[in-house]
Amino acid sequence: MKENFKQKSLLQAKDTMAGLGLERYRGEQVFKWIWQKNARDFSGMTDLSKELRLSLDCRFLIAGLEIANVRQEAGGVKKYLLRLQDGQCVESVFIREGQRRTICVSCQVGCPFGCKFCATALLGFKRNLLAYEIADQVRLIQEDIGEKCTNVVFMGMGEPLANLQEVIDALGTMSSPLGLSVSWRHTTVSTVGLLEGMGMLLRSALRVKLAISLNFADEDMRREFMPIASSNPLAEVLRIARIYSMDKEMVTFEYVMIKNINDRIKDAKNLVRLLKGIPSKINLIPYNEHPRLPYQRAADKNIESFYEFLLDSHHTVVIRKSRGQKILAGCGQLSGAV
Ligand code: SF4
Repeated sequence: MKENFKQKSLLQAKDTMAGLGLERYRGEQVFKWIWQKNARDFSGMTDLSKELRLSLDCRFLIAGLEIANVRQEAGGVKKYLLRLQDGQCVESVFIREGQRRTICVSCQVGCPFGCKFCATALLGFKRNLLAYEIADQVRLIQEDIGEKCTNVVFMGMGEPLANLQEVIDALGTMSSPLGLSVSWRHTTVSTVGLLEGMGMLLRSALRVKLAISLNFADEDMRREFMPIASSNPLAEVLRIARIYSMDKEMVTFEYVMIKNINDRIKDAKNLVRLLKGIPSKINLIPYNEHPRLPYQRAADKNIESFYEFLLDSHHTVVIRKSRGQKILAGCGQLSGAV
């Protein structure tokens, strides 16, 4: 059976060529064709000799994700259903906003963590994505829109820190000048607060932005709605967040606002108390409703009052504009429906 060359990192591509008795830079050439020029076979790689192309074609194939469906919402949001080689599907979202072109990628098929308000949780957990399957979401969407993205966010299906090694390898392909050349500084990894992964990210050389899906300032409520919080205490999550903000990049706390659940002023007061002294930004995200979940978006007046309270308490806070709700492409709405 032929090996899929697309699964190789840049280093592996060079090692493979060396293993075949060829110059290592041949690996760089093929890597570039795959990730920058969207090559799907070796035949068009014109800077390789015809003999080499034929020889590579006998050993390898180049296979990646395919677009199974696209839904578009007026205003620059596109939701992609992407089919993996084994037939499973993930969703990715493209969002255009002014000069900014953001691609939101998935890192797992489904998710094991069962947050009550999240549509992805309804799928259960199927499997982790491989590094090339994560990076290929960006490549494929860029090819489809005919433009380079400016930002990548790991906020699609799954928890990036539960698949950290593949996420790190995908970041290697994404950030490489021979790959997708997306700047790390324009890359955000979002987590529900997995301590082990946060610690690893902190100690690594990566300088990606870190977003923590906080959502509840009260530990008991957090555990009720986000079961994984039971084994990842908030105090420790915040301790690592503080160090990350001071040593690396300023952390963003995401707070999804759900009607009558976490949208009261007393919740805002708890939040202020909790985040005291942590250099950070807060994103308030009006909850994106989903037909299969019972929760509702907080009322505008509650969101405004919450926002004002945080602002008056000297926090940097933004209300994140909800986009893509009509096509279920909003935060927490991805469920991979074919
Ligand atoms: S919010 Fe994130 S961690 Fe929780 S179920 Fe959804 S995808 Fe998984």
